[in-house]
Amino acid sequence: MGFDLTYAAKRAEEFAKLRDWEQFHSLKNLSMALTGEIGELVEITQWMSDEEVTELLATSEGRARIEEEVADIAIYLVRIAQRAGIDLSEAVERKFSINEARYPVDTVRGTSVKYSERKS
Ligand SMILES: [Mg+2]
Repeated sequence: MGFDLTYAAKRAEEFAKLRDWEQFHSLKNLSMALTGEIGELVEITQWMSDEEVTELLATSEGRARIEEEVADIAIYLVRIAQRAGIDLSEAVERKFSINEARYPVDTVRGTSVKYSERKS
C-alpha cells in the first residue's frame, strides 16, 4: 500500500484515541514532537560526510534507522495537519504552485538564491 494521506491521518487519529492521547496532541505539542523526530533523523548522520551517509544507506541496518525517523516525521506531520483541519494534499499542491511562481526555471536554474534575496 502506498502512502495515502487520508489513511495515514485516520491511523494516527485512531492510535491516539485508543491510548487516550488526544489530550496531549495540541498543535504546539505535536510541532515540538515533530521537531524532536527531525532531531533524531539529523542525529544519525550529523558527523558523517556525504559519502559516509551514502554508505550507511547501503546497509540494511542504517537504512532501517533512517526509514524509522522519516516515518516518525511523516506521521507527526500528518497528525499536525489533521489537528489543524488542514487538507495536507491541497496545502502541498498549493505550495508547489507558489514555489513554481517564486522560482521560475529561466530565472533561477543553477542558483540557490532565495526568492526574497533575488535582484530582478
Ligand atoms: Mg523517532
